[in-house]
Amino acid sequence: MTENEIKENLGKVLSDLADITKASGRSPEDVRLCAVSKFHPLDEILAAVKAGQLLFGENRVQEAYSKFTELEGRVSSGEFPGGKPELHIIGTLQLNKVKKAVEIASCIQSVDREEVLSEIEKRSSALGKSIKVLFEMHTGEESKAGYADEADLYASLENCARGAYPHVIPSGLMTMAPFTEDEALVRKSFSSLRLLREKIGRDFPSLPMTELSMGMSGDYRIAVEEGSTMVRIGTAIFGPRVM
Ligand SMILES: *Cc1c(COP(=O)(O)O)cnc(C)c1O
Repeated sequence: MTENEIKENLGKVLSDLADITKASGRSPEDVRLCAVSKFHPLDEILAAVKAGQLLFGENRVQEAYSKFTELEGRVSSGEFPGGKPELHIIGTLQLNKVKKAVEIASCIQSVDREEVLSEIEKRSSALGKSIKVLFEMHTGEESKAGYADEADLYASLENCARGAYPHVIPSGLMTMAPFTEDEALVRKSFSSLRLLREKIGRDFPSLPMTELSMGMSGDYRIAVEEGSTMVRIGTAIFGPRVM
């Protein structure tokens, strides 16, 4: 995609989000756009930064690390004065990738097991950094990612609530809906995440579990209608993945 196409696509997605939030009685500030730049080169990310987009999502740590360390360098040299870009890791993490993920990201959206959580604590504590995390829930048949069992999620939340992970900020839930044309199934996946978050809010009032990261290029309208606070959109902004 050219710089102009990316700018246009971003504009379209943002105005679409404004329309959808308005139609569902919400306000555009209630839904953040995370631009998913995986498999797209740094130049395309820079085009989005120039167009005002500052939040990005990547799912492979190594790829994200090389692109975002370079991006940070270019931004701090003053080449792009619009603000500091922020990176969220959205892909399943192997334990040996957690260290680099914690170094470059402000949030890890794909915490799917206790082991990852304790590794994040260990690495962020060593860096003297606090990091936000979202817990990824398995809500669709096709995707294998995420906590499948609510009891396992609750065990992790209990550990957070009793202070086991002081450098981890448990901030909400994330999910991927099943890849299907069946809108009812997609909606059910998103509404189940919303209901789970409401329940967690009652059961763990001390945890700031407010975020609902749900909605991708093909299903973000339904996600926003169901209460999404963050959509993760790649293809509708950057086109088909190229790298
Ligand atoms: C790739 C990816 C997205 C973006 O998907 P698009 O369909 O390109 O918008 C969102 N979330 C996760 C977890 C992803 O891996």
